Amino acid sequence: MNQTNTTAPFQTPKLAAVLGHPIAQSKSPLMHGHWLKKNQISGDYFAIDIAPARFSETVRMLFDLGFSGFNVTIPHKEQALAFADNITPRAQRIGASNTLIKKDNGNINADNTDSYGFMANLTSKSTTWQPSAGPSLVLGAGGAARAILVALLDAGVPKIYLCNRTRSRAEDLAADISDCIEVIDWQHKEDVLPDAFTVVNATSLGMTGKPALEFDLTNVNPDALVTDLIYAPLETQFLKDARARGCEVVSGIGMLLHQGVPGFEAWFGSRPAVDEDLEALVLT
Ligand code: NAP
Repeated sequence: MNQTNTTAPFQTPKLAAVLGHPIAQSKSPLMHGHWLKKNQISGDYFAIDIAPARFSETVRMLFDLGFSGFNVTIPHKEQALAFADNITPRAQRIGASNTLIKKDNGNINADNTDSYGFMANLTSKSTTWQPSAGPSLVLGAGGAARAILVALLDAGVPKIYLCNRTRSRAEDLAADISDCIEVIDWQHKEDVLPDAFTVVNATSLGMTGKPALEFDLTNVNPDALVTDLIYAPLETQFLKDARARGCEVVSGIGMLLHQGVPGFEAWFGSRPAVDEDLEALVLT
């Protein structure tokens, strides 16, 4: 007698996690949890605090337990690069990895999706922005700025003015990445504003609990797109000032959401949507 089996075949739940130290502040479990539910995927996503000295052994153990991969945050992004068997060109150029993926052959791939997240945010929010229209001005020379410089150059920005409180840090970054980057003094950051078609705050100034970003936008090009990596507050004073001068402005929240997409797709096999529901969830 033929029997019809109506129960779905059992699938081993897929597992991923964000690794950091500390990690309690991470929004990634909220985001990936939302995508798992929305896409009805059998799986789980955790936040795991790992002390830097135990990074490699812990990650190896987690992969052995069956994890498909990880998001990696401060202070492990350089160790993640060293851990991997293969490194994507963008992670190599950024010099850090925020996404580890176990491939079918067992090799570990290190990617960096921050530059992708930054660019996907700008192109999804703006219909008019043309990276090749002219130079960009980037404030900051930390880990995030590195990814932004790579993203802007790859998108076709012809020249970048890079400005950081600690000038030597900006000079090191420029020397590492491209001779299309011109370093300018922090006290002269406003001087190049009329020439800039994209203006990016990649410092931590202006974030809730941090000092304000003191930046006079009087001479900003009204055709410039102005963006802040900060998303708390959602609209920083810097963005409010730029908006008041007629500029198109883009908040940093979309970068956070978009940078999670490639990892989720690789671990769980489905490309997730970045939409208003997700943004509202992460902002609450
Ligand atoms: P980081 O490596 O610690 O770099 C901090 C940057 O801010 C440096 O350029 C630093 O300049 C500058 N800075 C800090 N205090 C300053 C002050 N009082 N005056 C002038 N400059 C100051 O941090 P990061 O990882 O690059 O992150 C930068 C910001 O981007 C943070 O707010 C972070 O939350 C945000 N972010 C957002 C996303 C997203 O998905 N939206 C992703 C990554 C980062 P010095 O070199 O002179 O110290």
